[in-house]
Amino acid sequence: MSNTAAPKTGAEHIDALRDGRTIILDGALVTEHVDHPAFANAVRTGAALYDFAANPANEEKMTFASPTSGRRVSRAWQLPRNYQELVQRREALDEISKSTFGWVGRTPDHVASALSAMMMSIDFFERHGPKRAAAVRDYFTWARDNDIWCGYAIVPSQIDRLPPRVPGEPADATIVDEDSEGITIKGSRQLSTGLPMAQELLIAAVRPLKPGQENVSFTAMVPLSAKGLKLISRRSYEAHSVSPFDSPLSSQYDENDSVVYFDEVKIPWERVFIHNDVEAARAQWFDTPLMAYQNYPAQIRLSNKLAFMVGLAHRMSIANGSLQMPGTQEALGQMAADANQVRAMVLAMEVSGVQYGEYFIPDSSLQYSAQVLSQQLYPKFITRFRELAGGSVLARPSSHLDLTSAASADFIERTQGSGIQSAVDRVKLFNLAWDAIGSEFASRHTQYEMFYAGPTFSSRMRNFGSFDWEAVGSQVDAFLARVPGPG
Ligand SMILES: Cc1cc2nc3c(=O)[nH]c(=O)nc-3n(C[C@H](O)[C@H](O)[C@H](O)COP(=O)(O)OP(=O)(O)OC[C@H]3O[C@@H](n4cnc5c(N)ncnc54)[C@H](O)[C@@H]3O)c2cc1C
Repeated sequence: MSNTAAPKTGAEHIDALRDGRTIILDGALVTEHVDHPAFANAVRTGAALYDFAANPANEEKMTFASPTSGRRVSRAWQLPRNYQELVQRREALDEISKSTFGWVGRTPDHVASALSAMMMSIDFFERHGPKRAAAVRDYFTWARDNDIWCGYAIVPSQIDRLPPRVPGEPADATIVDEDSEGITIKGSRQLSTGLPMAQELLIAAVRPLKPGQENVSFTAMVPLSAKGLKLISRRSYEAHSVSPFDSPLSSQYDENDSVVYFDEVKIPWERVFIHNDVEAARAQWFDTPLMAYQNYPAQIRLSNKLAFMVGLAHRMSIANGSLQMPGTQEALGQMAADANQVRAMVLAMEVSGVQYGEYFIPDSSLQYSAQVLSQQLYPKFITRFRELAGGSVLARPSSHLDLTSAASADFIERTQGSGIQSAVDRVKLFNLAWDAIGSEFASRHTQYEMFYAGPTFSSRMRNFGSFDWEAVGSQVDAFLARVPGPG
């Protein structure tokens, strides 16, 4: 007899992904993406997160009993009521990001955090309308109790700024019809990450909207198998990776990004959280903890990724015989400081956390500041890593075949082997380094870290909006009050 309280497993998750969704890739409509060479490994990387949590050795750390179903579900859904519970939840989120060494950005905790922030702000949705609040409550309960993996698409395509290709045809996801059953949307969203691993999509508008734009001011959930929904995938790095040896990150952590096209997708009212209200569409992000709380796991993940990268840079410097050089140590010292800064901000957000009704949430202002700093930090960190690497990341054999073929193996051993490392170990290390800093996968990661939470200027503006200017300004006033006047 199956244990109904046991957490969701990877096999259950993979079954749930066999939902007949449509992904457009390389000129074809992919309908069985779970076993497709472009997505299969990433799907299994995602499924492994559920297996990790379901392992009895990890179950207590990673899951808690749903208050409605009693089933063990991810702690990502747990609404913390005090500092200890916030830390307990973060320790589970740490394990999720460490499972992929921080290389998967949109693990299920990201949008679970967005939905959790909505649930913690249910009063806000009640003010918007009791039916919409009921939709939030019911959806949250269902998603939590089934440990649903959700992605999100909250930014319109950049072509939305331009005149439409066909007059009257919306570029942004727009409500084109509504009836007693729900809304119908048409148009697209720019990029959504992780959808081959996800089951559901949150659609909302994060850009500022004006009166007159009510038809794009909605927040709703849609299954990725919804009729009319198309995921237009970017190039798959997984499909183009040569082997796990040659492309150790791309081959297993290519979480995918896709343009989402809604071809008259019907969404029932029970899945609509905000409707026809430009002010509520804005306020949900910034007058509640939603924006900060959903990006807090991303800082946890980045702290673990940077720790991994610092370790990799250190190992690489040993392999290059450069660790004893003062310049190398100085560069590593800076990189370690960068990694510690991100980690320190996570811990500071928690220590400075605040009570929000019955819940305890991280400090939003520190989260916004962390976002500003980390968006700028990452590309500089990568540049420093590349400076340390020199040519070794490109002085690698063409593929793993060179290491095993009788025609080439001896030459590779002579040119790659050193007194401290075999050729195989050295090439393995530098394959990893290149996949982390220079491959197409790595380059996409830099763009991701710079933009996943919006462009830097908007992060700075959020930080401007949340910072306590009176607290700092009043100190200046106090100082000036002590300065004697000109007479
Ligand atoms: C790899 C990747 C994955 C992503 N995943 C997701 C996802 O899963 N879900 C999701 O919703 N979003 C996701 N995003 C984020 C989203 O798609 C946007 O890229 C992001 O919000 C930035 O918006 P934009 O691309 O329209 O850039 P823009 O807003 O066009 O900004 C680009 C640049 O234009 C300039 N600029 C534009 N407007 C101004 C202004 N007003 N003032 C000053 N300068 C300006 C700045 O130089 C800015 O850096 C992802 C992005 C990337 C790169």
